[in-house]
Amino acid sequence: MHKKFNSYMTIREIQCKTSIGNCGFPGGGWSINPYVGCEHACEYCYARFMKRFTNHEEPWGEFVDIRVNIAEVLEKELKSNKYKNSNIYIGTVTDPYQQSEEKYKLTRKILEKLIDYSTKISILTKSDLVLRDLDLIKKFKNIDVNFTFNTLNENFRKHVEPNSSTVEERLNAMKKLSSEGVKVIAMIGPYWPFFTDPDKIFKELKKAEVSYVFSESFNTTGSNFLGVEEVLKKYYPDKLNGMKETFFDRDLFYDFYTKAEARLRKASKKYEIPITIYFGVGHAGKFKGEKQKIDAR
Ligand code: SF4
Repeated sequence: MHKKFNSYMTIREIQCKTSIGNCGFPGGGWSINPYVGCEHACEYCYARFMKRFTNHEEPWGEFVDIRVNIAEVLEKELKSNKYKNSNIYIGTVTDPYQQSEEKYKLTRKILEKLIDYSTKISILTKSDLVLRDLDLIKKFKNIDVNFTFNTLNENFRKHVEPNSSTVEERLNAMKKLSSEGVKVIAMIGPYWPFFTDPDKIFKELKKAEVSYVFSESFNTTGSNFLGVEEVLKKYYPDKLNGMKETFFDRDLFYDFYTKAEARLRKASKKYEIPITIYFGVGHAGKFKGEKQKIDAR
C-alpha cells in the first residue's frame, strides 16, 4: 500500500457534472475517472495533456482535483441503459487508486454504484491499493484488473513511476487477485529499450496467473519524453543516446519494435498467456501522421 502522501501536492475538491464518457479505446466502451491529475507523477505520463484544461500552475504530478460528487452523478447516469453491453473502464486517464483514493474512496463508491449494473468493468491501475476493494471486486460477475507492468528493474520503476506501487507490490497484488478468482491483465507499456525483458516479465506474470497481456510502444508525442530524458541524464547517462535514437529515428524505432514484437510473441507462446500488441511508428513523435509500419492489431 502507499506509505507516503506527498506534502507538496495541491489537492482541490471539485464538483463534476458528468461522470462517464466515451473512452476512445479501439474496442469502444466508456470511461470513468474520479481524479483529474495524478499523484503517481510518472515521467512519461500520456495524460499530462490534461493540465492545460485544469487551470493549474503546478507541474504535472503535483496537483489533483478530486471529483467529490462523482458517485452520486454516476448513480443518476446509470438510470440510462446506454452503458450496458459494453465495457466500462475505470481509470483510463489518471489512476483511480492514486494516494488520494485512500482518503476519498471515490473509486470504491463508484464500484458500489456499478455492482448491480450488468456490464463488463475494467480497472486500470499501477497501485496495490486496489486490494483494499477486493471484497467488492469479488462480487462482480464480469470484471478485470489491469496493471501496468513494463519492467522488473525496481530502480528504473522508481525513477519513471515515482509514486506508484513497487514491482514487488504489483506482483503480489496480481497474485492475490488471481488467487481470489479475479481476472488480472498486464499492460507491458511503454515497452522500454534496455529495461523491458519480455521473457523475464512473462515468467513473473505466469506465476501471478495473469490471463492476458497487452503491450504498446513508447509514444513520444508532446512532452512525454522530456521527463524520461532527465531521468536518463541523471541516472542512466550511458543509455541516453541509445534510447533517444530508438525513439526518434524512424528506422531504429521500427527495427527495435519489430524485434520486441518477436520477443513478446515468443514469450507469450512459451508461457501460454495471450497477447495483443499495439506498436506503431506513429508513436515516434517526429513521424507522427506517417503510415505505420507495424499496424495496431
Ligand atoms: S499512473 Fe497513469 S495517469 Fe498517473 S501519472 Fe502515471 S501514467 Fe500518468
